[in-house]
Amino acid sequence: MRSAISPLFLSSIFASWALLRAADGGPQSLAGFATESTKAQLAVEQRFDAQLRADDQKEWMEQMASAPNHVGSPHDKVNAEFLLAKYKEWGWDARVEEFEVLYPTPKKTVVELVAPQKFAAKLQEPAVAGDRTSTQVADELPPYHAFAADGDVTAELVYVNQGMPDDYKELAQNGIDVKGRIVIVRYGGGWRGLKPKFAYEHGAVGCIIYSDPRDDGYGAGDAYPKGAFRPADGVQRGSVLDMPVYPGDPLTPDVGATKEAKRLAIKDARTILKIPVLPISHADALPLLAALDGEVVPEKWRGALPITYHFGPGPAKVHLSVQSEWTLKTARDVIAVMKGSEHPDEWVLRGNHFDGWVFGASDPLSGQVALMAEAKAIGALARDGWRPKRTLVYCSWDAEEPGLLGSTEWAEAHAAELQQKAVLYLNSDGNERGFLHASGSHALQTLVNQAADSVIDPQTKATVLKRQRAKLIVGATASDTSEEMKRIGKLVAAGGTPPLGALGAGSDYTAFIDHLGIASLNIGFGGEGDTGGVYHSAYDSFDHFTRFGDPGFAYGVALSQTAGRVMLRMANADVLPHMTDSFHETVAQYATELHKLADTMRENTEQMHRVLDEKLHALAADPTKTSRPPEREAAVPVLNFAPLDNALLRLKKSTRTFDDAMTTAQKTGLKFDAAKRTGINATLRALEQTLLDPAGLPGRDWFRHMIYAPGLKTGYGAKTLPGIREAIEDRRWQDAEKFSVAVANALGRYCDALDNAGAALKSRN
Ligand SMILES: [Zn+2]
Repeated sequence: MRSAISPLFLSSIFASWALLRAADGGPQSLAGFATESTKAQLAVEQRFDAQLRADDQKEWMEQMASAPNHVGSPHDKVNAEFLLAKYKEWGWDARVEEFEVLYPTPKKTVVELVAPQKFAAKLQEPAVAGDRTSTQVADELPPYHAFAADGDVTAELVYVNQGMPDDYKELAQNGIDVKGRIVIVRYGGGWRGLKPKFAYEHGAVGCIIYSDPRDDGYGAGDAYPKGAFRPADGVQRGSVLDMPVYPGDPLTPDVGATKEAKRLAIKDARTILKIPVLPISHADALPLLAALDGEVVPEKWRGALPITYHFGPGPAKVHLSVQSEWTLKTARDVIAVMKGSEHPDEWVLRGNHFDGWVFGASDPLSGQVALMAEAKAIGALARDGWRPKRTLVYCSWDAEEPGLLGSTEWAEAHAAELQQKAVLYLNSDGNERGFLHASGSHALQTLVNQAADSVIDPQTKATVLKRQRAKLIVGATASDTSEEMKRIGKLVAAGGTPPLGALGAGSDYTAFIDHLGIASLNIGFGGEGDTGGVYHSAYDSFDHFTRFGDPGFAYGVALSQTAGRVMLRMANADVLPHMTDSFHETVAQYATELHKLADTMRENTEQMHRVLDEKLHALAADPTKTSRPPEREAAVPVLNFAPLDNALLRLKKSTRTFDDAMTTAQKTGLKFDAAKRTGINATLRALEQTLLDPAGLPGRDWFRHMIYAPGLKTGYGAKTLPGIREAIEDRRWQDAEKFSVAVANALGRYCDALDNAGAALKSRN
């Protein structure tokens, strides 16, 4: 799984970074490195690059994507053994760690129209000309949603657009209720798992999710095999586990799902869905949607199928049935370690999953083979006598697709040691032709940008950083761009560096950053490979990927180079390369957004009250159609964000002082005695953990980070300052003020740590 390219929420002009650059634009020194160690580091990176072969990545992908590799499949096990053998061959100390996770697999799936006429959905993806693996239909799981409830229901059908909260408001205004009915919704607008959850909360008894051709089929581009986009029978599988509550094995929250672990009963697991749900293709959706009557839906609800879209309910009546086998399956994480020569108890972690929904070429193997190439290259350096100063831990995760099971269980099983030792978790997932996107802990923005500044984009021969900047600046000039992208474009055009996005959920970094407070990054290339049209389908194959995703694997090599630099620099830096001004700029921007959000909500609510009080709604509506006034919502009071605003004043001062101390120390060669250096690094290693609040977020205490979280009502998308933001959105005013204090306290702890590290950097010994 992977989310769409993260929206870039934030930015900063990076003064300290500019100081580290030479006049010719090339890197003069690397954050965290003394001058003489910079030279040695750049030499190691050249040797690392020389080991990378695009053909390796191609060969590994062809092998690993040659049969269905979902959790529990024979080929998934073969791939784990293949990875283990490779890591060992390359000189790593490698092992498989097994977890027993709940993973339901479908025994029976049915979608059929029973009235006004009969139609049985195919629920299969047939072979496609020129796609060699697509003939292996018998070995695939049928398209389904992992962690849907078992159920057999027959009811009237209602179309609810993307099935998100605003769609239900619109439906209510049209006088339609989904209670006791089956909803059909299209993909898009928010994470898939929320669609059946909201349907259930509104009283629906079943949910069908289809891929509308407008979004990733013939409405977006030529369908596969002519082009890259979703063919008529293509289905997007996926998990509907309630991951914004907690990801990982639903039966073992907070602890690793080892054989002996204490397990919840399935009925007590909060993250398992309560109604049956299935994904279908647009070929299967067409007869269902065509059989709906009632009012015509609003324009923004319409897709690209050759019909007039109606709400229903009925006369279409649908039979939906899902029965799964609810057993534990073995997840096999492959963990490879190369011990650090100077700081063996400081760990730099790298991860990507290897389980797919079917063949998983793009998602996840395109990222997995780039990670393997890094491990092979580092192994070759080690054979020549080189050693990383800190310990490198390469993790090939199993069981990501059903709900981040492999990485979450491993992180929970090793929580205490990880919080003690980890300095970074670097994640990737699907990778394709295009632009670098990077999200994560904002104190590491300089590290990422410096890496991107030294990797060459395969298509344009400019640096990856230059291409990314050009994209942001050009994108900001488009007439339909968002205010946020305009703001970022302007900042980058004025000389700022591309900002990191905020991490939500959707890949294996979630447990590391949100639960354990380990500084994390997620990187990858994308935007030009058009793999979205086969996302989570049987057509996400080696043949598709090598035609459209990344022919020649040049971007696989670019990912290895970029991730490799981040890993090797983090492993060898004299002082951990944190530059914190971008963190302050980012959080200040989030706070500005929160003030604006509350103000806008207040104005909109006042306006709505006027509409209701003066009965304007009835006057403005078409009298021949059903139209109900919106629900009256409570007025928005003035909220006290003073604790947050004051914490930001201190954060500004502390980050500037720390960055200045770091820049000065670097100019004078980072000459500290070993004890002092160890102290500074220990403080920086634990810096991200100061942002955790052990009480966690309301209703989901597994999520403890006060700055970033996946949205409870958006899923993959990040909610920044989530305790405050979601409280405002849900009109929980007391919580909004309570979390303004909790965030302020977290920022206070962050400043205390920075002030300590800054003081140590300044004092000579
Ligand atoms: Zn993935």
